[in-house]
Amino acid sequence: MALNIDKIREDFPILNQQVNGKPLIYFDNAATTQKPLQVIQRLTDYYLKENSNVHRGVHHLSQVATEVYENARQYVADYIHAEESSEIIFTRGTTESINLLSSALRPLIEPNDEILISAMEHHSNLVPWQQLCEERKAKLKIISINEDGSLDMDQLKKMLKPQVKLLAVTHISNVLGTINPVEEIVRISHEKGIPVLLDGAQGIAHSTVDVKALDVDFYAFSGHKVYAPMGIGVLYGRKSRLSKLAPYQFGGDMIDQVSFEKTSFSQLPYKYEAGTPNVPGALGLEAALRYISGIGMTEICQYEDELLKMATEKLEAIDGMRIIGQAKEKAAVLSFVVNDIHPYDLGTLLDQLGVAVRTGHHCAQPLIDSLGLPGTVRASFALYNTPQEVEAFAKAVEKAVSMLR
Ligand code: PMP
Repeated sequence: MALNIDKIREDFPILNQQVNGKPLIYFDNAATTQKPLQVIQRLTDYYLKENSNVHRGVHHLSQVATEVYENARQYVADYIHAEESSEIIFTRGTTESINLLSSALRPLIEPNDEILISAMEHHSNLVPWQQLCEERKAKLKIISINEDGSLDMDQLKKMLKPQVKLLAVTHISNVLGTINPVEEIVRISHEKGIPVLLDGAQGIAHSTVDVKALDVDFYAFSGHKVYAPMGIGVLYGRKSRLSKLAPYQFGGDMIDQVSFEKTSFSQLPYKYEAGTPNVPGALGLEAALRYISGIGMTEICQYEDELLKMATEKLEAIDGMRIIGQAKEKAAVLSFVVNDIHPYDLGTLLDQLGVAVRTGHHCAQPLIDSLGLPGTVRASFALYNTPQEVEAFAKAVEKAVSMLR
């Protein structure tokens, strides 16, 4: 295996602890990842040496804070291959990024317009569109998924009609692990003149992202899924689109001129960043992206694939096991159920054995309901997980299942 896992694990001291008397196996990475020392140190350094408010001060510290904040924006832009740093809007995370976009698009949505999403969306990429459609008397249309958890591309093609104002789909499913064919999705949508938003909450953590090569219009992600702090995220938006949209929140920093009668708004990206931004969060995000760049996203993906393959094989050997999501293109997210054992019971027992997994509907309730399940158990892997942990996890599942039968 190409990665030096022992060395990587030294960067994540949190992993080195016992839970319920057992070594912690942290397989809840799709919910949030742990943070390396490099990220934690960056936050500390900011507060020790650089803290000040950005964009407003003539004094030294304010200029330093502004410079490092804008450098972080540039780093993120380069990392995802955006044309310009002004196309990077810092937000609280994927959820806020999508809310920002749905709010900005509001004036453009008319009765009987359609917004397309898929049946595998996280609530973050469903509820904002549902609310918008309700308010504007537009229609939310759902693209089905196939038996194996892949997107029904034939249906998608048929649904790309002139009244569709946006296609919003996830890059990688947080429940099924499915990696959607995003290049093709963008291409066929653009052939019909339809803009595309990709929910990259998992995509940013389990793939390289090149918005230019993808030619995608909007890409939303959260820092905390990719080893950065919580409370920072990004909405990438193509400049030609974002610059024409309405502001999201109003207040300081997003204005050009204000009088009691009227306000004009600032340019991108500031138009979308009202109020004091999360400066240390942006620096932490930069540090996290630098960290994974230093290791190599391609290598990380290969390594996670090996863990996924190994875990899948081991789980499949357990009697009554059903893996939920078996698409050909799949990232390191492994959902399963065993016979009629409730996922919550299985998750609770696994916790007692030191294994952190997630149980429930994973904020994708319509998907879980459509599968006729009460929820799933989900193990999701990151660059610091090991084959030994996968081995111990499979044994723990086997033990928990035998106890619950
Ligand atoms: N979309 C997907 C696919 C996700 O996995 C998540 C987080 N579980 C979100 C959106 C929401 O991300 P956040 O809570 O960080 O805004």
